Parts: sequence; structure tokens; C-alpha cells
Amino acid sequence: MGHIVTRFAPSPTGRLHLGHAASARLGWQLARAGGGRWLVRIEDIDAARCRDDHEAAILEDLAWLGMTPDGEVLRQSERRAAYSQALDRLRALGVVYPCQCSRADIAAAAHAPHGPDGPLYPGTCRTRPASPDNAAWRLDTARAARLTGPLVFEDAELGRVDVAPSLLGDIVVARRNAGVAYHLAVVVDDAHQGVTDVVRGEDLRASTHPQRLLQALLGLPVPRYRHHALMRGPDGQRLSKRDGAATLASMRDQGVTTKQILTSIDAVIFTDTISVR
Ligand code: GLU
Repeated sequence: MGHIVTRFAPSPTGRLHLGHAASARLGWQLARAGGGRWLVRIEDIDAARCRDDHEAAILEDLAWLGMTPDGEVLRQSERRAAYSQALDRLRALGVVYPCQCSRADIAAAAHAPHGPDGPLYPGTCRTRPASPDNAAWRLDTARAARLTGPLVFEDAELGRVDVAPSLLGDIVVARRNAGVAYHLAVVVDDAHQGVTDVVRGEDLRASTHPQRLLQALLGLPVPRYRHHALMRGPDGQRLSKRDGAATLASMRDQGVTTKQILTSIDAVIFTDTISVR
């Protein structure tokens, strides 16, 4: 097994729940098994929703579970220059376009195609170019895919996966005001941190398709991917911050032990694939 670097990349918009703990633990175990490093990256580009006290609490929860990062915590809010360089490169390749559509415009568009996560951007500004002033920037995925040719990624569960470049439509790579958006920041930072194995929930498997496309456009190294099963509540629904899923902190307050948390995680996500490679 080569040198392994994994990362846990929470957004400090709330407290961690069991699902986050699962991603963190699987990445941590994989790094430990390979004599590698486990890194933490705080995904705080959305200044309006991210809070310092959540960040501190996240690190505390991880420490409670026995996981401390191997190296400095990286904050996306400190990486603006790198994102802006990457966006410039995409602009120079002619694969992004400015978009002035509001959420309401997109919701109102007739015949919006659907993707795995809901309606896709209908391409309004791709065919009717908008002013770049204070615009969001979207990736023209069809044009980008013509440049890169066919792509694949390695998925621990599925093996070699053919990339469907437009699976999530023309994704936003830079939000208005923020200068960057999730997919672009992730690929730039995974490369910057030397991540060899991306470990995250299977709800993000679809995101790997446009992210692989961005890696090809930007000439970035390509990690392997491990998308784990989601932790579910007693009602069978996936846990989420929004619906008030029990946080690690509240479980701790109720007397749940670290060992109990780790055992319940391992029962769901641990498969014998951990040591295979
Ligand atoms: N920041 C993302 C989240 O909290 C995870 C991103 C990733 O693992 O690629 O859901």
C-alpha cells in the first residue's frame, strides 16, 4: 500500500452528528491502516452560514472520538487566491460562463432536466450570455467534456466508474460574492493537501463526476474515492443537520460513550474492503 492521505472536510454550519463521525472515522482508519496521514479541512467558504464556535466544537467532538488531525487544520476561507487562480484557468480554457440567474429564475424555468439531486440548471445563461459583473460562474460541462475526452475514477465499492460529466448539470464553480463554490474548492484543496483517498458519504458520489472533470481541466492529481453507506435515524431516514439529528454533543451529554458511538458506526460502514488495496 502506498502512502495514504485522507481528509475529513466538515462545514462549520452546525454540530457533528453520527454521519460526520462515520466519514471521519473511516478516513482515519484508512490512514492508520496505511501508515498515512489524516487531515481536517474546514469548508467555510459560505461566510453567512459558518461560525467559529461550530469549528471549535467540531474539533472537540473529533478529539472526544480519539481523532486528532495529522497536521494543521486547513480553512477554505484562507485559500481564496488559489481558487481565483483555478477559476482564471477555467476561464482561459473557455469552459465557464457567467450566470445571472436567481434561484427563483431556475425554479421557474420550464422543462428543467432532473439529476440525482433534483432539478438541473436549464442552461439559460449558456445560450444567452450574461454580464460577468457580480455573476456566478458555471461550468459548461458538455464543452469541458469535449476538451478532456472520456474520464474515469476509482471507487472502492464500484471499481472503475465512467464519468458522466453532466450528471449534475452545469455546476456553479464560483458563487456570486464568494468567488468560489463547493466543487471547485474541493478539487483545488484535495490536490493542495496531497489527498490520495477521498472518504465521504455515498450522498456525495454524484459530486465525484463533475469533480473528476474539474481535475482533468486543471491538471490536478486524481485521488481514489470511497463513498460509505449513510448512517440513518431510527425512522430509516438519513441524518442531517437540518432536521435536528442527534448531535455527538447531545449524545455525549446523555451519557453515550465514545466506544458506543464507534461501535454503532463500525456496524454500518465497516466492510472488509478497508484493508484491500
Ligand atoms: N463539506 C462537505 C460536507 O460537509 C463535504 C465535502 C467532501 O467531503 O467532499 O458535506
